[in-house]
Amino acid sequence: MRTIKDLDIAGKTVFIRCDFNVPKDEQGNITDDRRIRGALASIRYCLDRECRVILASHYERPTPNVYEEKYSLAPVVTRLHTLLKLASDIVLAKDVVGEDAKAKASALKKGDVLVLENLRYEEGETKNDVNFAKELASMVDIYINDAFGACHRAHASIDAMAKLFDSEHRAAGFLLTKEVNFFEKTLANPIKPFVAVIGGSKVSGKLEALRQLLDKVDKVIIGGGMAFTFLKAQGYEIGNSLVENDLLDEARTVMIKARKKGVKFYLPVDVVVAPKFEEYSTSKYLPSQEIPSDWMGLDIGPASSRLFREVLYDAQTILWNGPMGVYEWDRFAKGSLLMSHDIAGSHATTIVGGGDTADVAQKAGDVDEMTFVSTGGGASLNLLEGKALPGIEALKA
Ligand code: AMP
Repeated sequence: MRTIKDLDIAGKTVFIRCDFNVPKDEQGNITDDRRIRGALASIRYCLDRECRVILASHYERPTPNVYEEKYSLAPVVTRLHTLLKLASDIVLAKDVVGEDAKAKASALKKGDVLVLENLRYEEGETKNDVNFAKELASMVDIYINDAFGACHRAHASIDAMAKLFDSEHRAAGFLLTKEVNFFEKTLANPIKPFVAVIGGSKVSGKLEALRQLLDKVDKVIIGGGMAFTFLKAQGYEIGNSLVENDLLDEARTVMIKARKKGVKFYLPVDVVVAPKFEEYSTSKYLPSQEIPSDWMGLDIGPASSRLFREVLYDAQTILWNGPMGVYEWDRFAKGSLLMSHDIAGSHATTIVGGGDTADVAQKAGDVDEMTFVSTGGGASLNLLEGKALPGIEALKA
C-alpha cells in the first residue's frame, strides 16, 4: 500500500476521503473531535505542498437525496478551521457532486480547502456506484484515503473511486497508514503476556474476533452485556440481563477452545444489578451467581474490577474493545472507568479499539496514557477478525 509520501502531489488537486463521522450532542455540538484531528496530518502535508484540497466524508445515515441540515458537515468545517488555524476560510459545498461543488472545486486556488457535503446525501455512495465515483474523481488529480473508520465498507468514495486512479495517483493518508501499521505490527508480534479485554453489548458482533484472538492471546477478560451469554452458558441464572440464547453453544465452544489452548478466560465474578434498564434505577452489587431472576446486570462489580486488575498486572500488550457496562449512565460506568484507569496505568503496549471504548477512555481522562486509540470501531474489529478491508484492498488493486 503506497502512502501519501510516495506520490508527487505538489501543486495538484487532491481528494482526501476522511472519516468525519464524529459524535455530537443534542444541540449539534461535536463532543469528540479525534477523527477530525486525526485527519490534520494529511491535510497539512498537502497544504504545505501548495495543493488544492478537497475533503469528503459521510456523516451518519441520512436518507439519500434529502438534504436534512442535521446531517450537514457544517459543524465539522467550523472545527476543522479552528484546528487547522488557517487564515483563509474553508469552503463547504452545498452538495456533493452537484453544480455548487463543481463550481467551487474549479474555483479553488493553491492552498484552498473545500469540503464536500455529506457523501451519503448521494445514494451512489453506499451503492458503490461507479458513475458517482467518476463524478467525484473528475474534480481531482490525486486520491487519498485517510478514512480508516470507513475502510470496512465498499462504498463509492472508498472502493470504486480508488480504483479509478493508478498507483501513481492514489495512496493512503497518514492516519490510515498509522492505524493499519499499528494493528498489523502489534498483532503479528505481540509482546507477551498479551491480554484481550472484550466487552460491549453483544457476543455476535465480536465472536469471530474473539475466536481469532484465542490463537494469539494469553488471557481474555470478558465484561459488558456479552458476559451474560457466557455466564448463562456455564449454567448461571442471569435474570433479565442481555443474552443471546442462540449463541450459548458457541460461547461454550469458545470457552473450551480457550481451555485447550491454555488461554486464561475471565468472566465477572460480581455484577451491578438493577430491576429495570433505566438510568436512575435502584441498583446493588451481587455475586454473579446470585442475580435475581427479575433483575439485570448493567455493570461489572468491584470484586471483578479488582480481579481484572490482577489479571492485567503482568500484561505486556493489552487490546481493549468494548465497555464493561452501560457506561453512558454514571451509575453503571464505574467498571468501565476503572478498567480504563487500570489499562492506562499499566506498563503494557495498550491498544484501544471501537468508538464506545475510546469514549470511555476519553471520559476517564486516560486517552493520552494509552499507546494507541483507534478511530475505527468496525474496521479495527474486521482487522482483528483477519478480514481484508475493502478500502485497503482498493488501494492495492
Ligand atoms: P458494542 O457496540 O457491542 O461495543 O456495545 C457497546 C454498548 O454496550 C454500550 O452502549 C453499552 O451501554 C452497552 N452495554 C455494556 N454493558 C451492557 C450491559 N450489561 N447491558 C446492556 N448493555 C450493555
